[in-house]
Amino acid sequence: MTEQPIPLARRVAEADETMIRTMYDLAEQQSGDLVRLEIGEPDFDTPAHVIDAAARAARAGATHYTPNAGVPQLREAIAEKMERDHGLVTDPSEVVAAAGATEALFLTLLTTADVGDEVVIPTPAWPQYRLQVQLVGATPVEVPLSAAEGFDLDADRVIDAIGDETACVVLNSPSNPTSRVSDPEVVDGIVDAAAEHDAVVVLDEVYASLDYAGDGRSLAADRAADNVVVINACSKQYAMTGWRLGWLVAPVHLAAAAIKLHPGTSSCPSSLSQHGAVAALTGPQDDAEAMARAFRERRDYVLQRVEEIPALSCPTPEGGFYAFLDVRALDGTSFEVASRLLKSHGVVTVPGEGFGAGGEGFVRVSFASGMDELEAGFDRIARMVRDELA
Ligand code: PMP
Repeated sequence: MTEQPIPLARRVAEADETMIRTMYDLAEQQSGDLVRLEIGEPDFDTPAHVIDAAARAARAGATHYTPNAGVPQLREAIAEKMERDHGLVTDPSEVVAAAGATEALFLTLLTTADVGDEVVIPTPAWPQYRLQVQLVGATPVEVPLSAAEGFDLDADRVIDAIGDETACVVLNSPSNPTSRVSDPEVVDGIVDAAAEHDAVVVLDEVYASLDYAGDGRSLAADRAADNVVVINACSKQYAMTGWRLGWLVAPVHLAAAAIKLHPGTSSCPSSLSQHGAVAALTGPQDDAEAMARAFRERRDYVLQRVEEIPALSCPTPEGGFYAFLDVRALDGTSFEVASRLLKSHGVVTVPGEGFGAGGEGFVRVSFASGMDELEAGFDRIARMVRDELA
């Protein structure tokens, strides 16, 4: 071995370490019992009939490559699901299955953003948007939303950031981390402004099935725009994060372009996952409905606990499974607050600064964890706030 390691591609140094990863690593170094409220995935198991379907498919020989867009029965099942659950009328030819919403997003960016283009991201937002934009060689343009306005999607600010360099605008509703649901009229205004600059609006709706304020209707449901791509996945709704199964719904020429590039990323999602997903989407929905009810109960519980701590508040989670706690009454940055919560009280959270501009002063807690975790976590958070402000 030489002393000097092999030089790496510049994008490694240029990519930001995600704060979720930083907190995860810090937690791993910590001994004692930890309450993990940083994880954004359901604590439920995948429904049994989905596992059975994947196992049956494996035994029946579905162990080969599939078409780049996914097997036809999956594209049909996705198109039907999008109409049934989200009011989005679409055709299987507009659907591309991918390895999770993550790969569906990446394919969308690869298909629409050239090196040097700009991608507008209202923040705080899921940090992987920024990372993916960097990986395709485009430039992330963050538009910080106002904490004072509860992180409302502000059409004027977003539209101001759209110009001739803009390839895409990435919107996420319900939002990770704010759990706000966007107003369809505001989104419409952004879609129109983007169209004027030949830019695509990517609507990441992976939490649409956990819509506490509405009925899970897609923000693209009531308009036939040819510059909108909708992203969704089995991950959150069916507790299938490890299956890596998501999709994009796009105008057919854009879908065809994503299919053309798919051999360069993964070719296709796992064949077994595709067969499991068909069962998830077309089979009994009772498990998914029970999980959604459990998340709503946890949401109500978390809100009640936050209300009992006068120094804290959060925008009412309208969808998804995060509470974005305003910790500005405490000393220090959001990273310092999250570090004290971890080191002195054993609660793992994610500092708001990790979600881009506008997130500082907040800390994200996930209520994808069970009630016992939530109860223990909020007991400790309440104790820390009481001790620090005494
Ligand atoms: N979008 C958002 C907003 C997310 O929070 C996540 C997961 N944390 C994803 C996409 C990724 O979903 P998947 O696991 O299906 O790739």
